[in-house]
Amino acid sequence: MSISFGSQDYMNYCQRAADLIAQQKDYITELDAVTGDGDHWANLNMGFQKLVENKEELSKLPLSEMFKKIGMLMMSGIGGSSGVLYGSGYISAAKAVGDQQNIDVKMLSTILMAMLEGICKRGNSGPGMKTMIDTLDAAAYELKAAVEEGVSDKEALTRMEKAAERGMESTKEMEAVRGRAYYQADKGVGHLDPGAVTMYYQLKVLSECMLEKC
Ligand code: ADP
Ligand code: MG
Repeated sequence: MSISFGSQDYMNYCQRAADLIAQQKDYITELDAVTGDGDHWANLNMGFQKLVENKEELSKLPLSEMFKKIGMLMMSGIGGSSGVLYGSGYISAAKAVGDQQNIDVKMLSTILMAMLEGICKRGNSGPGMKTMIDTLDAAAYELKAAVEEGVSDKEALTRMEKAAERGMESTKEMEAVRGRAYYQADKGVGHLDPGAVTMYYQLKVLSECMLEKC
């Protein structure tokens, strides 16, 4: 039987992701202070707190409407590049889910691919540029492959989470091509990209939440 994961479950996930992000203030702020301007944690935390504030209302919406509203809240609630990028990602996801009301592993693969496409398009970016995309791209393609191979939901989600972690880690030695790290003399080499780390937090918590339903 496939996983049952609807709007309410997704908002519970958002709450848990918000909690994890809130706990990582010092680490993420420090990473962005080294490679960027130090506001990435404050930006993303603000966005997730907005989602938590609207949790009740968002939980009651059909999936597509919920994703659209999340995208709008992120766009308006987060300063900096990540607001626009996450906003675009969620709005693409809203279109991709259509009238479906359940996120099984196959639907999650569709959602992650749509988010990836939305963010890359908006950011004029792709993998290998030392951004949040490196985490998402690795996760989305691994999950797609796992779904195509027909492995169990448990294995697919575990593989997705591990790929996200590898994607995050791959940013350490990359030279930045996008984002503020590009303007640093060393192009951020030797440091993880903060956006790649916070993207990993989200995918890690999402995989945990869905694994609990397996
Ligand atoms: P800002 O860079 O405007 O201060 P944030 O600090 O909130 O915004 O977010 C920075 C993160 O956004 C980076 O660590 C990187 O992962 C991501 N990022 C920046 N520019 C792009 C882009 N063009 N495409 C994809 N991701 C990007
Ligand atoms: Mg910043």
